[in-house]
Amino acid sequence: KVRVRFAPSPTGPLHMGGVRTALYNYLFAKKHGGDFILRIEDTDQTRYVPGAEDYIIQALTWSKIIPDEGQSVGGNYGPYRQSERKHLYRAYADQLIESGHAYYAFDTSEDLDKMRELAKQAGTANWQYNHVTRSHMKNSITLSAQEVQERLDAGEPYVIRIKLPRNEEVKFEDIIRGWVSVNTNNMDDKVLFKSDGMPTYHLANIVDDHLMEITHVIRGEEWLPSAPLHILLYRYLGWEETRPQFAHLPLLLKPDGNGKLSKRDGDRLGFPVFPLQWKDPETDNISSGYREQGYFSEAFINMLAFLGWNPGTEQELFTMQELIDAFTLERVNKAGAKFDHEKTKWFNQQYLRKHSDKELGELLLPYLDAKGIHTDAEYAGKVASIMKERAYFVTDILDEGMYFFEPPINYDEKTLAKKWNAESRMHVENLLHRFEALEYFDSETLEKNFKDYLTEKETGFGKVGPGFRLAVTGQGMGASMFDICAILGKQETVARMRTALE
Ligand code: GLU
Repeated sequence: KVRVRFAPSPTGPLHMGGVRTALYNYLFAKKHGGDFILRIEDTDQTRYVPGAEDYIIQALTWSKIIPDEGQSVGGNYGPYRQSERKHLYRAYADQLIESGHAYYAFDTSEDLDKMRELAKQAGTANWQYNHVTRSHMKNSITLSAQEVQERLDAGEPYVIRIKLPRNEEVKFEDIIRGWVSVNTNNMDDKVLFKSDGMPTYHLANIVDDHLMEITHVIRGEEWLPSAPLHILLYRYLGWEETRPQFAHLPLLLKPDGNGKLSKRDGDRLGFPVFPLQWKDPETDNISSGYREQGYFSEAFINMLAFLGWNPGTEQELFTMQELIDAFTLERVNKAGAKFDHEKTKWFNQQYLRKHSDKELGELLLPYLDAKGIHTDAEYAGKVASIMKERAYFVTDILDEGMYFFEPPINYDEKTLAKKWNAESRMHVENLLHRFEALEYFDSETLEKNFKDYLTEKETGFGKVGPGFRLAVTGQGMGASMFDICAILGKQETVARMRTALE
């Protein structure tokens, strides 16, 4: 059975790239009738950010990427938070020491800094703790067994490092990238476990993927350099047979293609990079989120699905179920995916148009409420029906059509100066009397009446229309006046005309 996991570290809000990783995992699991697991990787307590875990869960909930197993939903492989699995990891670090694939190291951070400094002076930018340098350091390879024991007994801080072999090619086949091969000479003896009793990411990640019976590891490309190390850990722990397959997803790039889209790019580039708004607990800085900007989560998800994947057809609009049916890892690109804000807005517009007028009216109510305007979904829906054409967001309907909900407070200056004069006032007054006498106040009746008036007076639309519009809406342009008046109703239309004439 397919079992995949999304394994975020609660070091801050989940950004778009993280949601995309979760989405691809989810789609892959559902496509294969498998399980999607949410695991919180919080072993690095120095980077723990309060509120981040909660944010992750809320962001996934909003995105409708619902885990089958996880801290909040339970499951047979819990706990799903690594800090609560702390007791599990030590035994595996010990196993690696016993089999000769790991060793204790007692070097202080000053020792390590000194080595890096010396290496820099000798022209080596990236000093590594490896098969060459480890023979000059304080560890169980250079120290006697007795001395190691004495240091441990004395409670001296230590770490447990993986012992990488010299000059060995580590090869594996990534579902997206194909064959990847790295020589151990270019790898580091990474720390697996620290004397504070906590595993590092590498050890915890492998142990948990094994214990949780994960079949496929689908994650961001930034983890590709760690994959050879993970391959070796599976081998050394004796888990090669059941090792998950890897699929490393392409990077999300800035709109101009220049480099990776980072958490800091949000707002600076004029669009959110987070699904939900985030308030930094330390600085109180607020970063905007797709939800708060008025995006439909379905549009956000549809957009994200296309950042690095395509169905191979012309179809662009996909429901979650359609995505599940169409998704394959084989159709995920290797190349980075450029984020396109305009396209994202386009997706939202398409989803906006999928809603019925009544639904749009329903969605407008809270925004109206916030402005102190209380109306019903039916009325708001009628407004939406004629205002939705140009809207990308539900709130665009209000930005352009507030006059449906309150009489104009100001009148458009330009139209006022050019079109509001004795003649146009006279026309508005005449129309006012004709409208008052109407029995039916629908758009067709109004249009006919208006045209009859023009014919009677032998005048043109340009002499009457703008003043009429100004009187009723306060605007110089907009939707059909007959539609607008029909929605406003006779009483309101006439009252506004009268006010304008005062
Ligand atoms: N905790 C890692 C992260 O924050 C997980 C990487 C992985 O999926 O292996 O991205």
